[in-house]
Amino acid sequence: TVSDYEIETADVVEDVAADAGPAPVVAVVGRPNVGKSTLVNRILGRREAVVEDVPGVTRDRVAYDATWSGRRFTVVDTGGWLPDAAGLAAAIAEQARLAVDLADVVMFVVDATVGATDVDEAVVEILRRSGKPVVLVANKVDDTGAEADAAMLWSLGIGEPHPVSALHGRGSGDLLDAVLEALPAEAPRETFGEQGGPSRIALLGRPNVGKSSLLNQLAGENRAVVDAVAGTTRDPIDELIELGGRTFRFIDTAGIRRRHRENQGADFYATLRTQSALERAEVAVVLVDAAEPLAEQDLRIVSMVIESGRALVIAYNKWDLLDEERRHYLEREIDRQLHNARWAPRVNISARTGRHMDRFVPAIDTALDGWNTRVPTSKLNQFFADLVNSHPHPVRGGKQPRVLFATQAGVRPPRFVLFTSGFLEEGYRRFIERRLREEFGFAGTPLDIAMKIRE
Ligand code: GDP
Ligand code: GDP
Repeated sequence: TVSDYEIETADVVEDVAADAGPAPVVAVVGRPNVGKSTLVNRILGRREAVVEDVPGVTRDRVAYDATWSGRRFTVVDTGGWLPDAAGLAAAIAEQARLAVDLADVVMFVVDATVGATDVDEAVVEILRRSGKPVVLVANKVDDTGAEADAAMLWSLGIGEPHPVSALHGRGSGDLLDAVLEALPAEAPRETFGEQGGPSRIALLGRPNVGKSSLLNQLAGENRAVVDAVAGTTRDPIDELIELGGRTFRFIDTAGIRRRHRENQGADFYATLRTQSALERAEVAVVLVDAAEPLAEQDLRIVSMVIESGRALVIAYNKWDLLDEERRHYLEREIDRQLHNARWAPRVNISARTGRHMDRFVPAIDTALDGWNTRVPTSKLNQFFADLVNSHPHPVRGGKQPRVLFATQAGVRPPRFVLFTSGFLEEGYRRFIERRLREEFGFAGTPLDIAMKIRE
């Protein structure tokens, strides 16, 4: 009877812990009408994936976040792919190959009440050759009477059939346990950027832009605890400074202060310092001298920050020295030369007069917020579905590469993996980044966008 059915679903997570590693991908494969969408709904515990009684109807949302027993994974419903491929068998084979390429684990769904068909056998061939872990789902086992149907699927030769009723929930808990067991071992946590403790700020900039002056201005009477981390009390490596009621850790202040006293070090050492400060920082504040034309070295430092994947704020210092003409020219200069960092929050300050010191913390918060932003998979895929429809990739050599689905693999900075049916050219990737920023913000953070191409 229905009341005996075990109904279990994975939790849906919209806001996963910010420091979680990349989630493994579980792809659901099978002929039309075997119950893939119903199963995905069951796993997610909500009716989000569209269930269509018409076979082959395109679904534009295919990837979803889920957790089971505390383990996070992304479920991909392959049902919506390649509706126009020639012939059912060819389409399913193509779908299986895609799934194998993209997924860490494949859930192969068979309708147990129908049994294994020729098409199912063909899919098994593809799956077996791939060597990817496969979990065989015997669906539509709505009651114990149908368990024998499930057992028949041992004949497919890909291991134990897991009897479930996607419709009623029967067996779904055991199935998810089996999926978890098949997942690859959990990725180690990232080594940098662990949460907790004061935000770590690197003050960067070429000699004489005013780093030391800014540090003095910020610290002022507020200079908090001298940090215990290495160095001596008189010459601390880092300084903890309280701003607006919160404590921030300024990285390598000893370097800034000492360099001020010593000769300006050689370029090489300056670069080395910048690099090592970036390694320990979460956000970099790059100071530039607003009164002088941007120098090659300014641009290089900004590029270093972007490459390091840290959050970025640009501070135009010495604003007190600006006249009208320079101010006018400055805007054009920024537009032309700093276009790769257009997204960075900007503060116009004077370390000498203390101008706009109160803008400092909000700019840092904005950058760190962007750096920590995670877009739920469902929203991300809705975004890409709309994007691909309204602005498809240009046809190249008779082919039109498509974004099949996307996941955000990480944060700090946000990292995206686009699963595509071909190479996306540079212009289109830049377009994607621009639209991602328009849609989801990401002020103050570089974005890492990778492609996984299915040749
Ligand atoms: P898909 O094309 O593989 O995504 O299949 P759907 O999820 O759209 O399901 C196809 C049909 O099978 C729908 O009418 C579902 O209600 C039905 N169905 C799915 N799972 C079960 C099940 O466990 N038991 C029964 N009796 N019907 C199911
Ligand atoms: P650092 O080498 O980046 O640490 O730069 P310093 O803090 O030593 O500053 C270099 C010079 O610029 C010093 O003479 C400062 O007094 C001057 N300076 C720093 N900030 C400002 C500012 O906002 N306005 C003006 N007019 N001078 C500044």
